[in-house]
Order: sequence, then C-alpha cells, then structure tokens
Amino acid sequence: MSLDLDVWEIVIGLEVHTELLTRTKLFSGAVNRFGGEPNTHIDPMTLGLPGALPVLNEHAVELAIRVGLALNCTVQRSVFARKNYFYPDQPKNYQISQYELPINADGWLELPSGKRVGIERAHLEEDTGKSTHVGGGGRIHDARYSLVDLNRAGVPLLEIVGRPDLRTADEAKAYVSELRSILVAVGASDGKMEEGSLRVDCNVSVRHRGDSDFGTRCEIKNINSLRAMGRAIDYEAARQADLISSGEAVVQQTRHWNDTEGRTTLLRSKEDADDYRYFPDPDLVEIDPGPEWIERVRAALPMLPSARRHRLAERTGAELERTALVVERGLDELCLTAVDAGADPERVLTHAEHNLADERAAGLDPEAFAQLVAMETDGRLTATQTKAVLAEMVDTGDGPDAIAARHGYEAMDSGSLEPIVDGLIEANPAEWERFCDGDAKVAGFFVGQVMKATQGKADGKAVTALLNARRG
Ligand code: ADP
Ligand code: MG
Repeated sequence: MSLDLDVWEIVIGLEVHTELLTRTKLFSGAVNRFGGEPNTHIDPMTLGLPGALPVLNEHAVELAIRVGLALNCTVQRSVFARKNYFYPDQPKNYQISQYELPINADGWLELPSGKRVGIERAHLEEDTGKSTHVGGGGRIHDARYSLVDLNRAGVPLLEIVGRPDLRTADEAKAYVSELRSILVAVGASDGKMEEGSLRVDCNVSVRHRGDSDFGTRCEIKNINSLRAMGRAIDYEAARQADLISSGEAVVQQTRHWNDTEGRTTLLRSKEDADDYRYFPDPDLVEIDPGPEWIERVRAALPMLPSARRHRLAERTGAELERTALVVERGLDELCLTAVDAGADPERVLTHAEHNLADERAAGLDPEAFAQLVAMETDGRLTATQTKAVLAEMVDTGDGPDAIAARHGYEAMDSGSLEPIVDGLIEANPAEWERFCDGDAKVAGFFVGQVMKATQGKADGKAVTALLNARRG
C-alpha cells in the first residue's frame, strides 16, 4: 500500500502523554520511580482502598505549569474530574484527570522548519498500572491469565493534545522530537520513549488535496519509537485512502500498531466523551495557581530550543533550519562564544555539524575552538589538519597549538614552500613545460610531489597559487 501524495493529503494530530519527574505520585506519597519489584511502589491511595483520599502533589502542578508556559499556553484555573471506565490496572475504576478546565490551554510550539503547531491543551492526570498477559501471544485475547503491577498507577502524567496541524510523517516526528526537547529542557520529563515515560497516540485521517474539511480519523496506539510512528502514519493513511477509493467509509476507531507486521489492527471502536461520565472529583478542590506563582515559574524557565535556534541563526547569519542539529547537540553556546571571540561563523557551524558529533564536544573550550578556526582561516592549517586537531582537542582537552606542534603541523608558510616548488620544477622539466602549456592535469602532479616532500603539511591552495605565480 502506498499513497499518491498528489491526490491525497494526510492530517495528523498527536496526543502525547508524559510522566512527570516528581519524587512521589500525583495524589499520594507512594514513590514515583520506573521499574522495581511489582507492587512495591504502592499505598492505600494507589490501591483505591476505602477511605483513602487524594492529596495533590504541588511539584507536579509546578512542572505542568512549566510545560504550559514553554508551550505558549494560557495557564488557568483548573478542575479535576473523574473519568469512569473499567480499568483493570487502576483499582478505583476511575481515572482522575482534567476535562472541561485543563490547567494549560491553547498554545503552540515551533518546529525547526519555523512552522507552528497548535496545542489544544495540556492537562494533568494519573497514570494506570500495567497488565501483563501470560500465555498465547502476550495479548489479552489468547492469554491464560493476567498479572497486574500497580507501581505505575497514580504516577503524574501530563497529556498534551496537539491540534491536527501536521501533514506528513516527518513533520509528526519533528513535532515529537521538539516536544521531547522542551520537556527535557524544563525538567518535566526524562523523555524516554523506550521506558514509556513519553507515549504517543497518533490520530490520522486523509482527505483529497484541496479539500477544506477533515476526513474521519483513526487513533493509533502502541507506538514505541519515532520510527514506528512514521511507519504507522504512512500505513494508516494508505489504508484509509484505499477504503475511500473503493467506495467505503473510514470508521472512527482506535487501532493497534503492530511493528513486526507493519500494520494497524482494530482495537476497539472509539468511545465518545459522554461514555466516560466525567464529573468533577468531589475529593479535590480546584487549582488556581494565580499570577504570582505563574510569573515565578516563567522567570525560572531556561532558554528553549526554538529561541536558541533563532539566536544562533541571527548571530551566525545561517538559515534557521540549519541551526537545528547544532542546538540539538547542545553546541550553540560553544559556537556563539567562538564567534564572539572572532571565529568565522560559517566554519564554526560547519565543524559543529560535521566534526563534533562526539558527546564530549560541548565541553570544548570556546576560546581554543576559536583559535583553531583562526588557524584554519589564516591557512596555517589545512582543512584535513584542522579536522584532526579538532578531534584531538575533544579527546584530550589540549589546545590547538600544542596538538598542531605535536604532529608537526606547524606553519608551512609560502616562504618555506618556494624552494621545494622550485626544486621540483627544476627536477621535472617536461612536466613543467606541459603545465606552462596549459595542461591543468599536471598541476595535480606538482601538488602531489609537494605533499610528499612535506609529509602533507603544505596547503594545497598555496602550492597551486605558487605554481601559477611561477608560470607568470
Ligand atoms: P476526542 O475528543 O475524541 O479526544 P479531539 O477532537 O479532542 O477528539 O482530538 C483528539 C486528537 O485528534 C487531537 O490531537 C486532534 O489534533 C486530533 N484530530 C482531531 N480531528 C482529526 C482529524 N480529522 N484528523 C487527524 N487528527 C485529528
Ligand atoms: Mg479530546
């Protein structure tokens, strides 16, 4: 199945659940920690025992506000609601969530391309426990029995509901990456998709290109990586387009992504909000953070990835999109300080992109980096030598001068090149004559000979210039 993108347009809206990095659970003092022996991170509230009452975790609220502000949301008065459902891994049989009044509403984030994606809401809720189905294929249908681990039940979650503004699988991946960077930057989440602390549900629909109405969507669950999400979107879009093309209708459903088989299968038909019988939780009061708290949180926020990309683009003159990798690697401060110290911005960025993938690169001394770039710009080091010196700077922390000296990369100025070039001209009269007659290929011969004589220390450009000067 593949989709003709001249005919069809994909529409994607993502719901991202992130576990908040608190010490304890959202409504009790049970520890919030990944893993552990099953059913050891629990207490009466987690177990839904009669008489156990929720007490709100203030730090979870603070983290939610941080995320809301980082996503340009309005942080507002909010109310907890009960979402009623049969939850095999949530003994209360309702989930405390926020419904009509979420703590964060109506924001956006900016992708590295510069495109803004709307955020409908980002609300607080509690996580469920985990069921393990034993026997058969590990799914409930053919299991012999099921086990439940409540360690995760009651862990604070922030559900971030994005607007259906995404149009391709790549854009959806960029959105999740950006969101993850923001969550990590504000200290709200560790962003680990593989440990389930960041989980993505993916809503996909298709429409004919040019249509203004959205098509009927399906929601895809069980997406465990960005790669799986991209595959799931493309598969699901093609499936829906095939249905429509053959005269059938897309039915709103929740579907399960099977990464091994590379397809989605029906999980259940989609519930409507009414089915959950939401009502305000009588055990909890509303949260009204108030302007003072909000402003205190805002003032303490770090600079966010999109602002860092814009800053780097402005100060280096680079295209905005080009700055994404450098910021993702956390090398923007290094680059800016090096540029301030006089290094050529273009070379600084090129090195950050191509030669500084090593994790330790962020620890480079910016002054030393600037000095190295200056040595390259002045022609004291060739491009190859600069790359080698840079790698060694990252490795050893030594300065560029010392490393260059160690390798004998020291200043090969044109003064010391002249006798070598002249000697070669004299020793190879036939080649020299061909060069003077305009045979450009022989230039390579001379440059090669000079490199051999200097053990590669000469700057190729300087040799060519000298040869041309000698020809007159
Ligand atoms: P529900 O109330 O069923 O949760 P919402 O309207 O709140 O539905 O949307 C849930 C998610 O689905 C949001 O992330 C939204 O962006 C996305 N979405 C809504 N309509 C569509 C559509 N037609 N195609 C793709 N995604 C959609
Ligand atoms: Mg919704």
